[in-house]
Amino acid sequence: MSSIEDRAKQLISKAGFDRLIRESEIGHARWKSVRYRNIRISTNELEVLERLFPAYALWLISGKIAPEVGQTSPDYDQEQREKKLKDGRSRGETTCEECGKKITCDDVRVSEEYRLGSKNNRFMVVCDACNAKIGQGKNENR
Ligand SMILES: [Zn+2]
Repeated sequence: MSSIEDRAKQLISKAGFDRLIRESEIGHARWKSVRYRNIRISTNELEVLERLFPAYALWLISGKIAPEVGQTSPDYDQEQREKKLKDGRSRGETTCEECGKKITCDDVRVSEEYRLGSKNNRFMVVCDACNAKIGQGKNENR
């Protein structure tokens, strides 16, 4: 069973130092210490991680997930994403989670973790057009 610190470190790796520094008041040295050295994580870091990964809030604190209310974990999302892609492949098609369009395997793109409405920071299976659109949105937010 992993600890809050283990899970926080996993999310720190996932976000990357660049993003953490850009989106928080906490500096690089502190994030690095929390990630690589055996020092106590504070509520400040937890608050930032919760803000960046709202869908992982429950998991971060308790290690539990509740997909029915949108609380998942990185591993769960990864599994779901793989399952979706596999299901799509067996049917030869899947559905874009953004626009709902049927897409064939060749067109399937899996979006990176962009802030996308209530689907914050979740992997999504999207069509080529939506992937490009989401990518642009990400750049505009910078
Ligand atoms: Zn689409």
